Amino acid sequence: MATFGEMSIREIQRGLAAKEFSAADVARGTFERIAAADETVHSFLETTETLALDAAARIDAAIAEGRLAEMGPLAGVPVGYKDNMNLTGTHTTCSSNMLKNYVSPYTATCVENTLRAGALPIGKLNMDEFAFGSSTETSAFGPTRNPWDLERVPGGSSGGSAAAVAAGLVPVTLGSDTGGSIRQPGSFCGLVAVKPTYGVVSRYGVVAFGSSLDQVGPFTRTVEDAALALNALAGRDELDCTSQPCDVDFTANLAEGVAGMKIGIVPAFMEAQGLTAEVKAKVAEAADQLRKLGAELVEVELPHAQAAMSAYYVLGPCEAFSNLARFDSVRYGYCDPGHKDLGSQYEASRHEGFGPEARRRIMLGSYLLSAGVYDKYYYPAQQVRTLITQDYTSAYEQVDCILTPVAPRTAFKFGEIGDPTEMYLSDMFTISINIAGNGGMSVPVGLGADTNLPVGVQLIAPAFKDKNMLRVAAALETVYGVAPVAPAFADGKVGA
Ligand code: GLN
Repeated sequence: MATFGEMSIREIQRGLAAKEFSAADVARGTFERIAAADETVHSFLETTETLALDAAARIDAAIAEGRLAEMGPLAGVPVGYKDNMNLTGTHTTCSSNMLKNYVSPYTATCVENTLRAGALPIGKLNMDEFAFGSSTETSAFGPTRNPWDLERVPGGSSGGSAAAVAAGLVPVTLGSDTGGSIRQPGSFCGLVAVKPTYGVVSRYGVVAFGSSLDQVGPFTRTVEDAALALNALAGRDELDCTSQPCDVDFTANLAEGVAGMKIGIVPAFMEAQGLTAEVKAKVAEAADQLRKLGAELVEVELPHAQAAMSAYYVLGPCEAFSNLARFDSVRYGYCDPGHKDLGSQYEASRHEGFGPEARRRIMLGSYLLSAGVYDKYYYPAQQVRTLITQDYTSAYEQVDCILTPVAPRTAFKFGEIGDPTEMYLSDMFTISINIAGNGGMSVPVGLGADTNLPVGVQLIAPAFKDKNMLRVAAALETVYGVAPVAPAFADGKVGA
């Protein structure tokens, strides 16, 4: 029998309904699997056995009364959470020494929504420190390995969330995406990975990086599982004034196919410097498959998209600088003891608590927002943001969905990219979507011809039409098949 982490949501729920196993079996089996396989991968920072077994007991009681169907779209399904999401009683470290002793006094709405939908909470997942990065190498607690090749990064910043699903430890995890942190690790690990439109999922209780850019979404191996997870996650939350009401059933049109849909191709993206031949070939192949399935391919221009990276590395650090000011060793965070005055306590605590990339972002944001400099960078970056948003609006007058690469290349080796600005290019195709606020997702389309590693294509939809991209993703899934667990971890193997 497949491990629970290899099953889809429907397969788990069918097994529960048929009493082939109980929810308690699912919880226990999942922790055994993590104990056996996660030593090599290092995706989980903490596991939550008691919470999961309590949740499982509630599901099993409902099954005994014949009420499984009422328990929600994630009933009995193991779910892991990126470690920037609060869950009462767990550590929420953001993979930073700054928060290594922080215990959540409350639960983030996105996490709460999965629990209300019947999920079994399995634990907290490794990430780049405060979500700054594209490789999970900046975690203060050591990197996560890519289950497809343990010498390589899983992508980032939600690398733990991606690796846990790719290794078949759990079927669903949550990540967050400010510039690409769900989609890029999704591509590196060969998963379905969705960044919904800004406002679809509440950000309350998710430690903020760039508040106007951050959005939570699921990692899964099937498109239907992603849609079911979104059904649980989406909706208005009184505690996040940017969240929107949502009465969409994200599974509703998955089987409709793409005949008659118009799908945009961005020629400038396909010619972008740094895009590897194998990724380019996969995107072209996916476009061709969609055309064969009856979609019409239309070339669209996003004339300001090439400025997205520059705008992001102004806006992102400015927002991060403001958000991270609360980690001051008094209100929150690590406190270096023994200082006579508060100034030196702040300085020492923040220096020791934050790693190099976090310090770089904080210094950049502080500089960019200072008097005289603000007008030169922050203000123009906001103007660029408006132009990029308008580009997407005009593109969507012609098409229902846009197809692009996710990342310029497949997963790289640990230490291979040492220069921060080169690392920033990992998100060259994903960042403009956070700037504009609409939804984007990564869909696996097999292995690259040169590296033999997973490649994802990105589907981008108009704001609050996330259903469009899921529909196209489901069509691609009929061609490429459901994303497999990484071979070294399939059928319960532990990747040795
Ligand atoms: N890699 C990008 C960065 O380092 C995006 C991170 C993210 O989406 N959280 O900022």
